[in-house]
Amino acid sequence: MQLQQSLKIYNSLSGKKEIFRPINKGHVGMYVCGPTVYSNVHLGNCRTFMSFDMIFRYLKHLGYKVRYVRNITDAGHLVDDAEDGEDKIAKKARLEQLEPMEVVQRYTVDFHNILQQFNFLPPSIEPTATGHIIEQIETIKDILQKGYAYEANGSVYFDVAKFNETNEYGKLSGRKLEDMITNTRELTAQEEKKSPQDFALWKKAEPQHIMRWPSPWGDGFPGWHLECTAMSTKYLGETFDIHGGGMDLKFPHHECEIAQSEASTGQSPVNYWLHANMLTMNGKKMAKSTGNNILPGEIFTGDNEILSKAFSPSVVRFFMMQAHYTSILDLSNDALLASEKGFNKLMDAVESIKNIETGGKSDFDVTGWKQQCYDAMNDNFNTPILIAKLFDAVKHINLVKEGKATLTQEDKEAVQATLHAFIFDVLGLENKNDSTDDSDKLSGVVELLIELRKEARNNKDFATSDKIRDQLTDMGIQLKDGKEGTTFSLS
Ligand SMILES: [Zn+2]
Repeated sequence: MQLQQSLKIYNSLSGKKEIFRPINKGHVGMYVCGPTVYSNVHLGNCRTFMSFDMIFRYLKHLGYKVRYVRNITDAGHLVDDAEDGEDKIAKKARLEQLEPMEVVQRYTVDFHNILQQFNFLPPSIEPTATGHIIEQIETIKDILQKGYAYEANGSVYFDVAKFNETNEYGKLSGRKLEDMITNTRELTAQEEKKSPQDFALWKKAEPQHIMRWPSPWGDGFPGWHLECTAMSTKYLGETFDIHGGGMDLKFPHHECEIAQSEASTGQSPVNYWLHANMLTMNGKKMAKSTGNNILPGEIFTGDNEILSKAFSPSVVRFFMMQAHYTSILDLSNDALLASEKGFNKLMDAVESIKNIETGGKSDFDVTGWKQQCYDAMNDNFNTPILIAKLFDAVKHINLVKEGKATLTQEDKEAVQATLHAFIFDVLGLENKNDSTDDSDKLSGVVELLIELRKEARNNKDFATSDKIRDQLTDMGIQLKDGKEGTTFSLS
């Protein structure tokens, strides 16, 4: 266990950096709000999940046994968060004429595929809302029984005013209930609710609603905030260590989670609330509606007009890690080009340290440097400072390579191990940028055969040229002769 001084975490609830003290020594329970699977995963969401993947990795690196729960919202997330809105997944299913679970399956696969390319570690548990309807109904019963909710016309609402008499609604987002009430717009479902601030725990399903479950209050579906309370309590307990999510979830989602938990268990559910900041593109908010938007896959292929080339997932990951998770990060072609340069420099150093000659002394304070790397991460997971420290080592490695500095064998091994731990284990980068993958090799081989076939034809050796073409065809590689020369395609 390498607990080099204590870890400090910025807690959104207290607004302060606090020393991290887990409830059970050596163990961490962490819950992160996952995606609503009704469309392709957004790059901004990837940044949020990547921040928590880095935090998960660092906690594991420190020796903690971490139970990391990240849910899949496959029901109950209402459009516009308005209580009378339509379920996002049901709406998408209707538009695409699919079964709701077909929508869920398609976008869950997309989500996992993108995260895998970004080299995410899988969470310990990835529960779904639809898989926990019974737990959610039990939580509602509990809240009703404690008097913090009421039933109206087949729906159940959380009574915010009642809760606020004994607890503090708005403490996470720093809002006051009185201000919230005056700022609320009119909602059509409002007449069912005692107050516009009340939120749905259970919504009655109208006859046309396709995602529905039986409940003590009639057929319906759970409110979106409820699943996280039900699942985090089930897997991590009534109070657990870390709850994370995007900044945009602070209100109302996380505020409602706190209210639901405190109402049902009487306990504050989370000791450390962490919020990751957003990603902008070319200085503007990313949004599908304005077109200022990019899919992760488009970056990997370069297939978007804002990009001059493709960028590997590790370069994008490095780009994201160069910013602190609580800061806004702006994506642009220039920023990605700069990150690629930095990433390549880092990978070159990882390679070249293997072959540097060691000497009898070191003019690099390896112990001090290693401590600085830990200090950066222990200061609320400060990855930009960590990366700057990693480049101190890169600089020294390059000096040793040029014969301008020295490193003992022991120090070389310590630098190598530390670089490896932080670059690959903690930051989650992969050294795959050398673009010598199999498809490039295949193209090279086929180009060579095309060249040999051309030579054979020039020499009127048609037996050889036909043999090359026919055997490639048998292997599923079609040659096409045109004015510009011969091209090939794979069938
Ligand atoms: Zn949540």
